Amino acid sequence: MIDGRSGSWETVIGLEVHAQIVSNAKLFSGAATRFGAEPNTQVSPVDAAFPGMLPVINRHCVEQAVKTGLGLQAQINCTSVFDRKNYFYPDLPAGYQISQYSQPIVGHGRIVLDLPDGSTRTIGITRLHLEQDAGKSLHDQHPHWSFVDLNRAGIGLMEIVSEPDLRSAEEAGLYLRKLRTILRYLGTCDGNMEEGSLRFDANVSVRRPGAAYGTRCEIKNLNSVRHVMQAIEYEAHRQVEVIEQGGQVVQETRLFDVARGVTRPMRSKEDAHDYRYFPDPDLVPLVLDPAWVEELRAGLPELPDAKKARFVGELGLSPEDAAVLVAEQATALYFEQVARGRNPKTAANWVMGDLFAALNRLEIGIEASPVSPAQLGALIDLVADGTISGRLAKDVFAEMVATGADPGTIVERKGLRQVTDADAIAAAIDDVLAAQADKVAQYRAGRDKLYGFFVGQVMRATGGKANPALVNELLTKKLAG
Ligand code: ADP
Ligand code: MG
Repeated sequence: MIDGRSGSWETVIGLEVHAQIVSNAKLFSGAATRFGAEPNTQVSPVDAAFPGMLPVINRHCVEQAVKTGLGLQAQINCTSVFDRKNYFYPDLPAGYQISQYSQPIVGHGRIVLDLPDGSTRTIGITRLHLEQDAGKSLHDQHPHWSFVDLNRAGIGLMEIVSEPDLRSAEEAGLYLRKLRTILRYLGTCDGNMEEGSLRFDANVSVRRPGAAYGTRCEIKNLNSVRHVMQAIEYEAHRQVEVIEQGGQVVQETRLFDVARGVTRPMRSKEDAHDYRYFPDPDLVPLVLDPAWVEELRAGLPELPDAKKARFVGELGLSPEDAAVLVAEQATALYFEQVARGRNPKTAANWVMGDLFAALNRLEIGIEASPVSPAQLGALIDLVADGTISGRLAKDVFAEMVATGADPGTIVERKGLRQVTDADAIAAAIDDVLAAQADKVAQYRAGRDKLYGFFVGQVMRATGGKANPALVNELLTKKLAG
């Protein structure tokens, strides 16, 4: 909600996401798709639109789109049609992009957002369609010339369009992250934003709460979740400002200026009829066998929502913790290996606490963790069976991160085994109380707060190794006197 001078305004957002399909070959040619290859080394005559070349649909890309549709709990359309979307651009040699328009391969679906308070909210998916990517114009290689790299031309994209159901930049961010998580679970898009595998257009309008939708602006070519959120924030405030000053929002395409954090007009909004969409005569309608779709459905991995429900229902985790642990498949897998046969909450705390902190500091993913799930599990066992205290376990973990050693080895090498010998602890307590006779007198005179001080002294005297429960028991007795 935005507080304008004339009352509050609601932001309405719909997102279009271009997700590059994980596939070794392009959508309609056999050319390779490897990122970072020498310019124009992965271009077939089809991609370069030589006369007479014919596109042939890549079955694997179709499979990826269907899997994604299933993962978004969407309608799969067993008949879909490829259309030509006509426009001129130097990086589009054919003068049209093969896309889908009125009959996309995937229809209505949904994405469930995990809100920070543990609740959820469902956002509608309008459709998912298959289309080709364009090439890339390079304007910074030569003082007078521009170049074109067609390596990207013809690579398969899934355009995933949401309903205008999002109401804030934060929700848009949650939506994009959740979508990325689902795509990565499915293995249909690698989600790598630095390499442009995910690109976003944000449609933004504002309205009075409960009123009809306002006129939208579309902010094009955003390449990070952070930029999407910043652009929405700026654009919504700009529109409120325009309306409150008596103006009208004009429907247009805008660009986000990353350096200045503002959106500015790019062109007036084109309409569908400007593209002269018509079915591509080189391609027959795409017809899917429903049995094949069901086979793909049966082969889907456990997706984040189901995993989260299982972590909450079977393992007793909170929805917030479960949502964090399922955000990356590798994290969920790691967690489950640690939690197997152990207290799930303890395992979750270690993974989300000390382990995440260490991985962040080292700037590495959980796949490259210096501590294996088995090693973290062994550390948890050492605390559970009383070999080391919870306090010292933190130090042992830090040592595991630094050296990769097993916790048992570190405990023995450093002599960190917990002291559970009552006589040894009693002796340490006697020493402390003898050395602090004045404080003992104060305590007995009623300064209860000194109790913690004595505990600290005993722990220090034992190098942190005394069993805390035993310390409490013996100390209470001795102070009583
Ligand atoms: P276009 O080709 O014009 O971009 P699409 O149908 O591909 O049209 O995408 C329209 C996008 O705009 C969808 O994500 C939709 O949810 C969103 N949208 C539609 N109306 C509004 C509105 N009033 N405010 C914000 N977003 C909107
Ligand atoms: Mg659009």
